[in-house]
Amino acid sequence: MIEQPYAYRRADLAEPDWTRLPGWARVTREEWESAQWQRAHCVKNIRQLRQVLGAGLSEEFCADLERDQRERATMSMLVPPQMLNTMAPLVAADAAGFTAALYADPVRRYMIPVFSDRRADWPSHPYASRDSLHEAEMWAVEGLTHRYPTKVLAEVLPTCPQYCGHCTRMDLVGNPTPVIAKHKFALAREDRLGAMIAYLKRTPGVRDVVVSGGDVANLPWPRLEAFVAALLEIDSIRDIRLASKALMGLPQFWLSDEVRAGMARLGATARERGVSIAIHTHVNAAQSVTPLVARAARAMLETGIRDVRNQGVLLHGVNDSAQALLDLSFTLLDGANIMPYYFYMCDMIPGSEHWRLSLAQAQSLQHQIMGYLPGFATPRIVCDVPYVGKRWVHQVSRYDTRLGISYWTKNYRTAVEADDALALRREYAYYDPIHTLPADGQQWWLDRARGGSATVVPEAGLMPEAGLAPAGTGLTPAAQ
Ligand code: SF4
Repeated sequence: MIEQPYAYRRADLAEPDWTRLPGWARVTREEWESAQWQRAHCVKNIRQLRQVLGAGLSEEFCADLERDQRERATMSMLVPPQMLNTMAPLVAADAAGFTAALYADPVRRYMIPVFSDRRADWPSHPYASRDSLHEAEMWAVEGLTHRYPTKVLAEVLPTCPQYCGHCTRMDLVGNPTPVIAKHKFALAREDRLGAMIAYLKRTPGVRDVVVSGGDVANLPWPRLEAFVAALLEIDSIRDIRLASKALMGLPQFWLSDEVRAGMARLGATARERGVSIAIHTHVNAAQSVTPLVARAARAMLETGIRDVRNQGVLLHGVNDSAQALLDLSFTLLDGANIMPYYFYMCDMIPGSEHWRLSLAQAQSLQHQIMGYLPGFATPRIVCDVPYVGKRWVHQVSRYDTRLGISYWTKNYRTAVEADDALALRREYAYYDPIHTLPADGQQWWLDRARGGSATVVPEAGLMPEAGLAPAGTGLTPAAQ
């Protein structure tokens, strides 16, 4: 047997015992498997967290959480029982080490962030921003982001059954927090969804629609089914992807009779018309893949849809090792028939520096996970570059590792650059977390921040005329 850096083991899925938690000691299986019960018992505040977890949760943790919610959090708290139950799954809630296990837990780290998790030096990058991907600037109609030539993102609603601390759409999604007021859609939902369908009917160049939000699991099922059915009526649309973290966070929703029957109807119509429907979910840690999640994924595949795929987010302290990424990918693939598809680098939103990795770290992880999974199931680690779109981490054009600035190019225009003759020759910048830089790079940013000029950075340039194909990868010598 040759020793390998990663040792594959097939893991058995397990549903942690929810009755170990004092607040749910008497909850029956029937209640647990009801989507309605799960929604009604989501944890939304510290008082409810205390009620569920009991005396094992320390006052120190609660104070840490309270400070984060007051001073840093960009998302309000909303944790379905299904997700809370996967945190510190092997430790009894009244055991001495429970709070320590909760602090260290990967799911807790992104679903229930506390103040001490965040960077004290640079909690936010100087270039962090709300709507860091500029999606609203690319709305063709309100909520419909036309960011790539042949595909669109339809933000059908601004809520989810669960709120993730690192949410990219923190500008729009969820309830306001003490530090972040949320953008509100101007149009009523029916007018917005109607305008989206009308735009897609008159824009036959779009063949691929990501139906997202928020999370589609929060749209009343008949409304979601009607929207997808309307998409299926448009001949030019060939791919429909339903974005739902709830497949993992609230699998009970996708297992309900109403949703299964509705998905079977949509699946049948899609097959008849030769259209692919897939569900895209968002799982960041292997422990989240429980038997209920696997059942929900299989139930969806049985409706005849094309696939269930995972788009995780690469997060420090959650999954930033080859072991964690491969464990998660194999668990998804072997245990739940979910295709590992992407890991996104965490976007540059306020308060995210403690979660973000540098591009170099992401490139190294991509290298380390190659060759273990089947090629079709090897997730690509991608950087969603503002104004560019998703780019595989090795597609960087130029990379200044001292200052942590990577430069990227694009090969299509959006409406934002319709009149920009140089759009395809420009370089677009993405920034590493400052604490990951060498000392002189960190000092450079510090000097600018102290001098009030953190916005003065080396200018992104223009690629040469023939430079639509990047000259180097940033890892190889520039002269290559
Ligand atoms: S489920 Fe998705 S949209 Fe909702 S809070 Fe999490 S990351 Fe944001």
